[in-house]
Amino acid sequence: MDRTPHVLIFPFPAQGHITQMLKLAELLCLSGIQVTFLNTHHNHRRLRRHADIDSRFPASLRFQTIPDGLPPHHPRRQFGFLKEWIYSVDIKSQIEPSFRHLLVSYQSQNNPVTCIISDGVLTFTIDVGMGLGIPTISFRTVSTCCLWTYFWLPQLVRSGDLKFGGEELIDMDERVSSIPGSETFLRRRDLPSFYRSKEIDKTGMEFVDTETQNSTKSHALILNTFEDLESPILSEIRNRFTKIYTIGPLHTLLNTKRAEPISVSSNGLWEVDRTCMKWLDSQTPKSVIYVSFGSVVLMKHSEMMEIWHGLVNSEKPFLWVVRPDSITEELESSDEVAEEVAEETKKRGCIVGWAPQEEVLAHGAVGGFLGHGGWNSTLESVVAGVPLICWPHFADQTVNSRFVEEVWRVGLDMKDRCDRSTVEMMVRDLMDEKGEGLRESTARMGELARESVRDGGSSFCNFKDLMEDLRLMCQ
Ligand code: UDP
Repeated sequence: MDRTPHVLIFPFPAQGHITQMLKLAELLCLSGIQVTFLNTHHNHRRLRRHADIDSRFPASLRFQTIPDGLPPHHPRRQFGFLKEWIYSVDIKSQIEPSFRHLLVSYQSQNNPVTCIISDGVLTFTIDVGMGLGIPTISFRTVSTCCLWTYFWLPQLVRSGDLKFGGEELIDMDERVSSIPGSETFLRRRDLPSFYRSKEIDKTGMEFVDTETQNSTKSHALILNTFEDLESPILSEIRNRFTKIYTIGPLHTLLNTKRAEPISVSSNGLWEVDRTCMKWLDSQTPKSVIYVSFGSVVLMKHSEMMEIWHGLVNSEKPFLWVVRPDSITEELESSDEVAEEVAEETKKRGCIVGWAPQEEVLAHGAVGGFLGHGGWNSTLESVVAGVPLICWPHFADQTVNSRFVEEVWRVGLDMKDRCDRSTVEMMVRDLMDEKGEGLRESTARMGELARESVRDGGSSFCNFKDLMEDLRLMCQ
């Protein structure tokens, strides 16, 4: 007897991962699949507070929660929280029992889980699934170009090709020429954060290495990318997995399936401030630089001031997201400086705590995006045809920003520089006449992204194949 497909989706507990996997959940539901979305208790409380989740999703999407393995009074600030999950929470021994228990209880009911789609960095789920006879598909939320480096770098460290200087300086401009597909342009400074440091970060590297290797054991891999963007790297990485479904940009694919557009940025763990949309309405076309560094990046107050001065000196209007928990040092500025900031900001800027980013990027007044090169932000900007300036911090951001400038030609890489004159110069280069070429190539890439999700496009077809795969698992 055929069963109804019932997919359990489990994201790593960070905004960028939840955003993508919640979109996939909605897509599956809209295509007739029942989905259980598994969140940690803490993140689910935040999501429920800000994202109106009880009324906006199809009835076939249910939420379940499990503990995150941290003590109840832990502050769980985004960055610290992620570090804890990588460095101290023994995910396997603390989360696995709750995960297994939940699955066992589903399997004994008349609506068992027929497939697990879990975050590609939570691969303990593959073994749990195997033990219960449930196939697991891994979903990697980073770019393919970064995932590809995760396959190669551990062996370059082990062979001694990639050295750590300890007290000595390492040459950040040295080429890393042994990763197929990026031999000519990838430098040490472009590598994911664990591999840029002077000292070897064994725990961090082992975490990423183990999860990456383990994910190849899954039934298939889902990537939020599209063929035209990453095809050379995709053809390399296809040898490592049984099947790969590239179904991105997910937010664009989802928008083609929704009956009517809903508030697209409400997957957030923060409250969206929509006042900026009115402010954008009052600006001239393509004049505004949007500034946002995602949900995890922290910056020093001094860095924030360099960016602020650069923006003001560029004389462009700016919309800036300053997340309440994103500044690491107390304001050291005198009242006088604070007053100047307030005055100048009033003249040409708008600052909010969390913006409806997809809508912001789609607004005709936005002409550029100064961000951190997070994967979601990069895709959202490309789809909107808005060129980027990337000031990357960690994880895949450092790789993405290099590809943004060197390969995809959709923006500029501001890596390892954060001073007012660089910010001013790059904003001008992006927004003024000099940026014409970048605007054109970003618009072309945006068109390819939108084509990929249209009927017959690569992501459209791959999503159809994924659906077929999920249905076959029930027979
Ligand atoms: N985002 C948003 N409003 C903001 C800032 C960010 O809705 O003010 C969303 C953005 O649209 C993206 C996600 O948060 O979908 C950030 O993900 P990304 O991968 O870019 O960066 P991360 O937060 O994982 O570092």
